[in-house]
Amino acid sequence: MTAQIIDGKAFAAGLRARVAALVPAFHAATGRTPGLAVVLVGEDPASTVYVRSKGKATREVGMESLEHRLPDTTTQGELIALVEQLNDDPTVDGILVQLPLPAHLDAQEVLLRIDPDKDVDGFHPINAGRLATGVSGFVPCTPWGCVMLLEDRLGDLSGLDAVVIGRSNIVGKPMAALLTARNATVTLCHSRTRNLPHYLRHADIVVAAIGRSRFVQGDWLKPGATVIDVGMNREDGRLTGDVDFDGAASVAGAITPVPGGVGPMTIACLLRNTLVAAHRREGVPLDERSI
Ligand code: NAP
Repeated sequence: MTAQIIDGKAFAAGLRARVAALVPAFHAATGRTPGLAVVLVGEDPASTVYVRSKGKATREVGMESLEHRLPDTTTQGELIALVEQLNDDPTVDGILVQLPLPAHLDAQEVLLRIDPDKDVDGFHPINAGRLATGVSGFVPCTPWGCVMLLEDRLGDLSGLDAVVIGRSNIVGKPMAALLTARNATVTLCHSRTRNLPHYLRHADIVVAAIGRSRFVQGDWLKPGATVIDVGMNREDGRLTGDVDFDGAASVAGAITPVPGGVGPMTIACLLRNTLVAAHRREGVPLDERSI
């Protein structure tokens, strides 16, 4: 193996510590702690685990976690009424509706009703538009975490060739927008891309967000490339990425492992976004680039 391992777990711990260190000053300025409301509808086991770990991480950095668990019989009207109540609640800085929602609920409509300035997941079309047009807003946590890891490893990304595989609204598209804003030359690949290895051969940066276990092969990569593996797949009860780690690690310059790479960054960025939302809403100054 030649690649360095990008330790997302350690980086995320550092980010959470920077967030925690800023909470007391916010409290001193406003008399309250930042609050993150998480809404879970139904009892999907994976979602229940995610919501529990988000609540725990929120409390650990000294912020308030407000968890709303609704039965899977909840109607669209009831869910929207809760979102509007949270929009109006001055103690709530961030609102997160855990996806996927049960099939009878319309997630798009629910996301549209979240106040964009409390949309710490960055999924509201207003925040997608802000990202696309270079206006400050909230960026989805997973691609934001990937950019932090890339800049930590590579510094200035200007002029680098980047290939993003996957074009979801949650990962691929915002990832491409973030890299473009940092002056990388970005190619966005997807299931209709012809000859994916052709694009990867030239890429200094590869971000794989596909959802197919160990799909990206080591011999597709440019030697020395930095590889960010967003994938979270289950194979024989084991968590695997979208990149064939062993093959890629013998070619790449650096690579994120799965688990322990991108995954821990997502919750840490959610806490960061909540802290930022609280400061913006209260008009308390914060050097956002320092976290
Ligand atoms: P998604 O919505 O299913 O999107 C997958 C994307 O991959 C689509 O754009 C699809 O192309 C593309 N794709 C599928 N097969 C392909 C192929 N053979 N070649 C090239 N592209 C292909 O998934 P997502 O929500 O973006 O998530 C992607 C992965 O990241 C999943 O494993 C997910 O579990 C993981 N994830 C991890 C985190 C984390 O915190 N670490 C957070 C979010 C997601 P089309 O658009 O053409 O269909």
